[in-house]
Amino acid sequence: MANRPVRFDFQTDLEGTLKYVHDIPRSFVTPNAQVMQHDPKYIKNFVAAMQPIMLEHEAACRAASNPKCQNCGSPTAKVLQTPMSWLHLVDEPFINVLVNPVCDKSDCEMRTRQQIQDMMAEVTAEVQEAEEYAGKLRDTVEVLPLCAVQGRGILWKGAPEGGLEGA
Ligand SMILES: [Zn+2]
Repeated sequence: MANRPVRFDFQTDLEGTLKYVHDIPRSFVTPNAQVMQHDPKYIKNFVAAMQPIMLEHEAACRAASNPKCQNCGSPTAKVLQTPMSWLHLVDEPFINVLVNPVCDKSDCEMRTRQQIQDMMAEVTAEVQEAEEYAGKLRDTVEVLPLCAVQGRGILWKGAPEGGLEGA
């Protein structure tokens, strides 16, 4: 299977973004990636591909994270790594990985996972809105060149000598 390099941005508390590049199957990078994330087979393959990469950087993520549980302040036992796919951006695909330190209490882990899910739902809604908006822009793009030409004509005609002086 053909691979292609993809950027991984791990978002940590203490060291900001840890950037790595990994080769992942080219088939993951598709304009449909957002839609595909509702496809159980895509999800399964995606999770399987992410797992070793998450593991590889777990220690670095832990070292770069707050040593206290973000929920209760107890010492951190592990970090939760949540990869968010931006593989629909086929020109510059990347994975944004949220890194959240938690203690060993399952309650804290559950609560933190819930917070992450809420946050992801928000981001997903925003992305969908942006894409719908982009779709509308594409629909209107045909009339844009005309306006641009007209606007330019007015600008040149209307610009007095002083308008361009010193520019
Ligand atoms: Zn805790």
